[in-house]
Amino acid sequence: MSHTKDTLDTLMKFTARTGFVYQGSEIYGGLANTWDFGPKGVLLKNNIKEAWRNHFVLSRSDMYELDSDIFMNSKVWEASGHTSTFADCMVDDKKSKHRFRADHLIEDQLDIDVEGRSPEEITEIIRSNKLKNPITGEAGDWTEARYMNMMFETNRDKIGNDPSQKIYLRPETAQGIFVQFKSVVQSERAQVPFGIAQIGKAFRNEITPGNFMYRIVEFEQMEIEYFIAPPENDEDWNTIFEQWLELQRSFYIDKMGISEENLVAKDHVTEKLSHYSKRTVDWEYKYPFGTKELSGLAYRTDFDLSQHAQTSGKDLSYQDPQTNQKYIPHVIEPSVGVERLVMAVLLEAYTEEDLGNGDSRILLKLPYDIAPYRVAILPLMKKDGLAEQAESFAQELRVKGISVTYDKSGSIGKRYRRQDEIGTPWCVTVDYQTLEDGTVTLRNRDTMEQVGENGRIAFTELDKYILS
Ligand code: ATP
Repeated sequence: MSHTKDTLDTLMKFTARTGFVYQGSEIYGGLANTWDFGPKGVLLKNNIKEAWRNHFVLSRSDMYELDSDIFMNSKVWEASGHTSTFADCMVDDKKSKHRFRADHLIEDQLDIDVEGRSPEEITEIIRSNKLKNPITGEAGDWTEARYMNMMFETNRDKIGNDPSQKIYLRPETAQGIFVQFKSVVQSERAQVPFGIAQIGKAFRNEITPGNFMYRIVEFEQMEIEYFIAPPENDEDWNTIFEQWLELQRSFYIDKMGISEENLVAKDHVTEKLSHYSKRTVDWEYKYPFGTKELSGLAYRTDFDLSQHAQTSGKDLSYQDPQTNQKYIPHVIEPSVGVERLVMAVLLEAYTEEDLGNGDSRILLKLPYDIAPYRVAILPLMKKDGLAEQAESFAQELRVKGISVTYDKSGSIGKRYRRQDEIGTPWCVTVDYQTLEDGTVTLRNRDTMEQVGENGRIAFTELDKYILS
């Protein structure tokens, strides 16, 4: 199903009402490009991260994990090139004081791609075409365009002669992996080819309006650096590259429930590749505001490790234990932002279903493994010991590590609908017969039908149904 502009608005209202995502600092009027995950959002997000770990890390024998610090020695960002080149070209409207990304302004109004153009050329394009300020709708009184670094800076106080040192909130998790490459090789006796995976926060001073959680200032990345021997020919690295591309595709389609029609692989054309990358493919998603990058896959050659070796003066080469050959490994990097993925997952799952006879329901068709709750326990009545029995069943499941919600208020029909819209795959109803023979009804979210013989199952058999 394709999405329209209205879908985004519907999704934002829906996620706030149901406790998935709230606007950040809302009671103070908010803060641009910040969002808070509510109780259901936290469960969904954690399940997505866990599914990513299972798919890319835990199910393989050649992967290691890392959790590196957000703050790093500033030399890291000099070596990686972030201090000098991690910048967007900005322009201000002097009349309104609004600031915009110059490339977006030009692309939206003139449909020209200005990547690689100088600030002078960009200023000329903006002024000579009398570009409008998209917020006021009037022609802007534009400043010169200039590059501004996107890293957030802060100061670290120290005892001694140099009391204050400039440090950055990391703009990506990848560099943390590169600087510990050697440590992992040594402590784990890791042998190339192998990968290091990391999930963690990254920060970018983005000023563009966010399209909900698409472009935010604080986000989480799930990144892998997969180290390979220097390839002898293009086929060598491209074979591994294609394997990772397929692994990403199967994750999005099979595990995240993204439909084939909304997922697009886009190969960067050679001129648009970063100088260190030989091939980059973005997985794009058809968001309601356009087909945009969800994740990336880049073959970065030996650029990063070589840069760090040169800047730190440390030997970051690897010695093959079989051949004794010494080299700086090359690297293939799959990378995805958690929030962009959460958005795609929610957009795919959100369904307004017409049930006929004027009846309808909102259904969140999440894959079962990532739904916030696996099962809801509902006592038919609060009285006669049904609520107590239901509570005790719920607790039994919780201690087994199954994500459970318990709801005793309103008619059973209303309670089913509440679970449908937050994506709970199963609802267990505890009724009078439960007290007699230990059986319950078990309703499936998608079919709305009860499973088991005569529509009942023994509670003791529940795992068999809901965990398969
Ligand atoms: P874009 O071109 O959209 O700014 P990028 O190419 O700079 O993204 P990368 O540096 O490749 O992004 O980062 C890897 C992944 O991190 C992206 O594919 C995306 O999923 C996520 N990401 C990057 N910037 C943001 C952001 N500001 N908000 C949310 N997620 C982000």
